[in-house]
Amino acid sequence: MRNKLSYLGTLCTSFVLALSFPALAQDQALTQTLFTNVYIFDGVSEERMAGNVLVEGNLIRQVSSEAINAPGATVIDGGGRTLLPGFIEAHAHLMLMGPSLPAMEGNTTWEDFAIHGTQMAKMYLMQGFTTVRDAGGGNGGLRRAIDAGDIIGPRYYPSAAFIGTRGGHADFANYTAPVGQSTNFSRLNMAQEADSAADVQKFGRNNFRMGATQLKYMQSGGVVSAFDPWQLLAGSQAEIEAAVQVANEYGSYVMAHSYRKEAIMSALNAGVRSIEHGFSFDCDVAKLMKKKDAYITTNLTAFDPGLLDIPAVANVPASLAKAKSASATFAGYIDNMKKCPAKRAFQTDCVGSVTACNIQVAYEKHLNNEFFGPHTSLVTMTSVGGEIVALSGDFMNPYPDAKLGVIEEGAYADILIVDGNPFEDFSVVGTGDKWFGAEPRPESPETIRIIMKDGVIYKNTL
Ligand SMILES: [Zn+2]
Repeated sequence: MRNKLSYLGTLCTSFVLALSFPALAQDQALTQTLFTNVYIFDGVSEERMAGNVLVEGNLIRQVSSEAINAPGATVIDGGGRTLLPGFIEAHAHLMLMGPSLPAMEGNTTWEDFAIHGTQMAKMYLMQGFTTVRDAGGGNGGLRRAIDAGDIIGPRYYPSAAFIGTRGGHADFANYTAPVGQSTNFSRLNMAQEADSAADVQKFGRNNFRMGATQLKYMQSGGVVSAFDPWQLLAGSQAEIEAAVQVANEYGSYVMAHSYRKEAIMSALNAGVRSIEHGFSFDCDVAKLMKKKDAYITTNLTAFDPGLLDIPAVANVPASLAKAKSASATFAGYIDNMKKCPAKRAFQTDCVGSVTACNIQVAYEKHLNNEFFGPHTSLVTMTSVGGEIVALSGDFMNPYPDAKLGVIEEGAYADILIVDGNPFEDFSVVGTGDKWFGAEPRPESPETIRIIMKDGVIYKNTL
């Protein structure tokens, strides 16, 4: 009781102290950076605007086509390059290093996961991603380390444990494991198998307790995973609704791994706001998405003809058969997305080594431009991602004070400067035109000259 009281006393004192300092003290502490002579892509517009951007503290203070007067600011002359919002990855798995689910379940300790996550976080930031949403496996610890400045990485929105049905896409148990036996993944709260709506509620609430900003529900199977057909319709409507209900208790939302059209439609009808993969996307889906104000993120590598040749698919007959049937069903995605555009964010979904994921991220950027052109790709990588992460709401969003993914007054100062004009040469954003068999990539693309996150510069080669 004594301890509790004195703790309260300390809290009250510091609260009063904070209040009694004049606003002036805060102003003096804010450093200013002025970017001049740049062409600004604001995250939305079809055209770049010639102008200048003033950053104060961790926010964008002013954006103008006129000169900005800021005598105390550090000036960075952009030399006619392009200034744009830091990229947003809407579906990554920073903790999952591969090479297979059984390997991660059987031979990986928490140290392996933590070290991999640390390196992945740095890789993403240095590829220009100032925000990453994690679609399963990562809890709140990585974010705490990044935000405390202990390690280098992007803003981080983890989903904690994937929640899925037994035998589904989030079941990491060995083939011979008795039903109900805990797994390495469940002990570390990286994946949980639910058998009922009550289980979904239990694991969902536990995820928020462990630092999740939203929930991830596994509604479909996968192509490379072992037990589950990709066509799986996992989970009853009551279970999906239970996930949505728990997320809503926290003012947040559910992202659902959904392949088949039936899965996508039932997820949307249950209140899921973010459809992951969504390969069977068509104009009916687009219509319901619009009505429900929902988003989609899709790994475009799934449409790469080389997919059938990768060893994890080509050497495993069951996976090869699954990949072929999936490719046939998913063939309409690109055309449907052009015909009935939906709010789509960037997704890489790499599970593998840091070197392999660096290559895959660069290739995913390249495919976006190949399929959808530079403007749509840039919007996908910036402002739409910013809208998605904001769905985590006022209580669970770790960065609730400003917008992400846009260059506008009052937004967070997450800023890149790249060489040239990405509308004419998209490769300046750090693309790679090869996936399997590609050479390892540099730690950061040469053409990305400035990387600023939260007003702090992590790279400057100007
Ligand atoms: Zn994923």
